[in-house]
Amino acid sequence: MDIKRKPKWLRVKMNDVHKDRYVRNILEKLSLNTVCEEANCPNKIECFSKKTATFMILGSQCSRNCRFCNVSSEKLEKVDEKEPKNVAQATMELGLKHVVITSVTRDDLPDGGAKHFAKVIESIRSKDKDIAIEVLIPDFKGDKKALKYVVEAKPDIINHNIETVPRLYDDVRPQAIYKRSLQLLEEIKKLDSEIYTKSGIMVGLGEREEEIAQTMADLREYKCDFLTVGQYLPPSNEHYPIQEYVTPETFKRYKDEALKLGFSFVASEPLVRSSYKASDMLAKAE
Ligand code: SF4
Ligand code: SF4
Repeated sequence: MDIKRKPKWLRVKMNDVHKDRYVRNILEKLSLNTVCEEANCPNKIECFSKKTATFMILGSQCSRNCRFCNVSSEKLEKVDEKEPKNVAQATMELGLKHVVITSVTRDDLPDGGAKHFAKVIESIRSKDKDIAIEVLIPDFKGDKKALKYVVEAKPDIINHNIETVPRLYDDVRPQAIYKRSLQLLEEIKKLDSEIYTKSGIMVGLGEREEEIAQTMADLREYKCDFLTVGQYLPPSNEHYPIQEYVTPETFKRYKDEALKLGFSFVASEPLVRSSYKASDMLAKAE
């Protein structure tokens, strides 16, 4: 397969410029970032029309440097104490029904930013208790006390991406530990079995089909409820090189296999991202 040319299933229509500008103005006014805008996510039109968006909190610089990720790690920023209030206000102004909160990893902070996550959740709930809240969290270096702050704020879904198969961790996610990520998902359920857990896998990094099957089985063993599987697309030539464009047929096989393993909802398609179809997952589960 020619890796230099994107196959037709990954080419998407142009975005809605007016809607984009409206969203961007609100975000600029409140000094906020969304992954949707920053990553120019191909699903923006669909997600915004379903009243879903993903905010990125705790700054734009990360304390780690995964080889597939475009977030920079030059200078970690001071935490913006107004951020919880501003995320809640943006949620209201954008009329969101399902909010996803994610962050860079902040290994430099004593609690990894867990209390800040909790404050954002509480701030949104104080404006509207019916908004569905999903958090996509880092591993907090396995700190159970930090995780507890997030769990006690009671988001509807806690997502932590396993990202790839264990064999590729050293190359792709050198500061993460496969087992630690699985244990974090299990710990959420131990702390509060009512919270849905979710994880995501990127494919096209050089993994084999049987390795994906094993990773999905591991996630189920650690009680993960929802799964996303999407195509890895390198942000630049400096990033981890793509090894393969996985075909829609293979994505379908992953989905069938995952459903057989017992996941309650699976989104497995080339353009799927962690927060894609987030509201559908919750609706299906409840
Ligand atoms: Fe935003 Fe996630 Fe939807 Fe992309 S998939 S537009 S990042 S909510
Ligand atoms: Fe990117 Fe997350 Fe890795 Fe940081 S920890 S470099 S934000 S994928």
